[in-house]
Amino acid sequence: MAEMKVYFDHNATTPLHPEVKKEMIEAMEMFGNPSSMHSWGREARANVEDARGKVAAFIGADEREIVFVGSGSEANNTVLSLFVCASSQCIPGGKLRGTIITTKIEHPCVLETSECLAHRGARVKYLDVDQYGKIDLDQLAGMLGDDVGLVSVMMANNEIGTLQDIETITKMVHESGAFMHTDAVQAVGKMPVDVRKLGVDFLTLSAHKMYGPKGVGALFVKKGIPYCPLIRGGHQEFGRRAGTENTLGILGMGRAVEMRTLEMQEEEERLLHLKQVLRRGIEERIDDIHVNGHPTDALASTLNVSFMGVEGESILLYLDLQGIAVSTGSACASGSLDPSHVLLATGVNAELAHGSIRFSMGRESSMQEVEYLLDVLPPIIQRIRNMSTAYIKGGLHAATR
Ligand SMILES: *Cc1c(COP(=O)(O)O)cnc(C)c1O
Repeated sequence: MAEMKVYFDHNATTPLHPEVKKEMIEAMEMFGNPSSMHSWGREARANVEDARGKVAAFIGADEREIVFVGSGSEANNTVLSLFVCASSQCIPGGKLRGTIITTKIEHPCVLETSECLAHRGARVKYLDVDQYGKIDLDQLAGMLGDDVGLVSVMMANNEIGTLQDIETITKMVHESGAFMHTDAVQAVGKMPVDVRKLGVDFLTLSAHKMYGPKGVGALFVKKGIPYCPLIRGGHQEFGRRAGTENTLGILGMGRAVEMRTLEMQEEEERLLHLKQVLRRGIEERIDDIHVNGHPTDALASTLNVSFMGVEGESILLYLDLQGIAVSTGSACASGSLDPSHVLLATGVNAELAHGSIRFSMGRESSMQEVEYLLDVLPPIIQRIRNMSTAYIKGGLHAATR
């Protein structure tokens, strides 16, 4: 019987911030089309532009550089799809240089779009990562050249939390004459993100990963950078994304970033402490584990642990019975039995990758919840290992690189 409800799956999605919810409920009366010229339309337009200003300010951009889209996935698809735009109306000369560089640990919406583009004529190169999930800048330097049009490297990894040095990467990319995109969905709202400091040309955000509503995201597109809409047919978003605006979602996103400005810093310090307690607790109480991700250059709220000889899905289901929500690999990959591509890229073997759990905490996570998890988890692992023929005590060493 569950004693407590503990949501440790914030990297999959976050609950609405109470302030966001309040504002969205009030705004449900507002139904005007922002493109209409009458008072209903003007009211909706004013709200959309107000939210645009808030999102822009939050990442240090100009309002005209923010394009509201339907999701983080759409923003990423839009950037990569510049490669198959052959219109000289969008891109002078009608084409970008033909090679895309990305990493082996991107979100599936980047990896699958890259694969699709490879079938449509683009050349795609994938950067490796080290055991902590960091890309190798020397390998990047070797890949850059005058054939490369775009580099896409995520700022914070959703599965293991590892951060990349986007500022340095962007400098290298610009020196080679290519454009730089970062999927910052897991970073924005958890740490200060300033597009001018980073220097990037494109940056992806999603509202539902930072206590805003689902189904709305934004793409930062630096002024003067080539662009081609993924969705055509209207003048919305300065002609950059057709379709009547998701006014309610956009307004919620604006309120969400406003609340992040107030709460983020203090919260991250608290979460880092919770993570350290959780990590130490697991290390002390459970043998034969492997902590994934970078020990310091990582999201404060994300802890990914592999448990030798145990299926991650079993752990997830047992924890769920105790009222605790976690995830294996990434939510998008669940439903498939393939081990996480991120963990495999860090050199963890398939067996250990199968036994990994992501704990991702958030603004309502408490020490009491961490303690409850630390009480509940060791006997679960013990129970599964006792039933397993795959677990040999002390067998961890052979399983990691
Ligand atoms: C969740 C996520 C996405 C996708 O965002 P959606 O708004 O859910 O489409 C993209 N990249 C990363 C790193 C994510 O965590």
